[in-house]
Amino acid sequence: MKLSKMVLMGVAITFVAVFLSQWGHLDGREGKALGIISEANAAESPAKVSPVKARTRDVYFPNSEDLGRNEMRVIACGTGMPTTRAKQAAACFLVELGNGDKFIFDIGSGSAERISSLQIPYDYLDKIFIGHLHADHIGSLAEIFIGGALMGRQKPLRVWGPNGRSPELGTMYAVQKMKEMYTWDLAGRVGLVDFRGYSIEVNEFDYKAENAIIYKENGVTIRSFPAIHALDGPVSFSLEWKGLKFVYGSDTYPNKWFIEYAKDADLVVHECFVAVPDLVKKMGFTPEQALVVGTQIHTAPEAFGKVMSMIKPKHAVAYHFFKDFDTTAAVNDRIRTTYDGPLSLAEDFMVWNITKDDIRVRMAVVEEGTWAPPLVTKPELPMKDDSEKYSKKMGVPNDAMGYSDFINEGRLGDVDEVLRGVYKEASEALGKTFEYPTK
Ligand SMILES: [Zn+2]
Ligand SMILES: [Zn+2]
Repeated sequence: MKLSKMVLMGVAITFVAVFLSQWGHLDGREGKALGIISEANAAESPAKVSPVKARTRDVYFPNSEDLGRNEMRVIACGTGMPTTRAKQAAACFLVELGNGDKFIFDIGSGSAERISSLQIPYDYLDKIFIGHLHADHIGSLAEIFIGGALMGRQKPLRVWGPNGRSPELGTMYAVQKMKEMYTWDLAGRVGLVDFRGYSIEVNEFDYKAENAIIYKENGVTIRSFPAIHALDGPVSFSLEWKGLKFVYGSDTYPNKWFIEYAKDADLVVHECFVAVPDLVKKMGFTPEQALVVGTQIHTAPEAFGKVMSMIKPKHAVAYHFFKDFDTTAAVNDRIRTTYDGPLSLAEDFMVWNITKDDIRVRMAVVEEGTWAPPLVTKPELPMKDDSEKYSKKMGVPNDAMGYSDFINEGRLGDVDEVLRGVYKEASEALGKTFEYPTK
């Protein structure tokens, strides 16, 4: 008797806890309901001593380490190629500084997913520097623009990128057309979302400027210098802060500006393409194509090594090749014919912690099933005036919301009853009346 009563009580506690925890999120993410579950469990389970001793593991768990005041952390969020694959997103490197600032260099296809795994509040992920406008360097821009706003960025996305030889070859044009491409998406949000995150500030600069300052805030200086790749327009960047220097080369053929302005850097990231024989064997290129793409449009491993031998960075990072069991050795061996200094062959989620005295290289261990990270700024529902301003600013129709009679007549009335139940459940759980919407 006694035992079955306890079991019943246990079931009841669990049911209440699970029910409350389902609504916990609506209740300001306070986690009170989850507290009930853990208290109940704690009372039931005796303390156990694990026979396995804990040891320090040489990996980086996101959000488990504060940066030192003079420390920089760089995380590879995309190291692959224009040809997409699950194993590697395309070009993207995140730089985090001990003063709280964060910068994204390139936002290639698939990289927004990698960034989301790090669970960084999106208000901090508002600055993106684009080295050139190839899809494998900007392919996730829309995802971080719209998805980032949905996941809590309550401020405009700020983008820096080069101009081109004519206006339609510049960053301003690319971003404007991307916004136009998403007219339907953005129109569907009028009146529903906090608009503060749904705008983009574009800072276009001269691609020919040599070591020109394009950003200077909060003790951080970012400069741009020309690169050589496909057309006029691509650039490379340096970021300097508290005596530390990070250099990021978007794609380029080896160039004189990089040698000059990457000097004295701590971490230098430069593209390094798949070895020419593997472009033929694995990518199916003709030898002619492989030679042009692998040595003239991009930087071949041998040339990457030459560049690093001239710069002599504290640590060199090669990316932009498919890093597999049967392709990595060729890249490494060819680099080592011309460079014998410190080197990382990058893959997604490689992490570098940089201080004046040390560069520590590890891999991050990340969760795939992440949700929105914590909010920094509370969202506000838009007022009518905001909707009008937003529509005007984004060039989307303000009266586009809602359905036509034609679509409305297609709504399945049979689900009304069950959906009313959900409203009733919410009203009872949260002690507040939620009116069921009628047309
Ligand atoms: Zn490119
Ligand atoms: Zn590329």
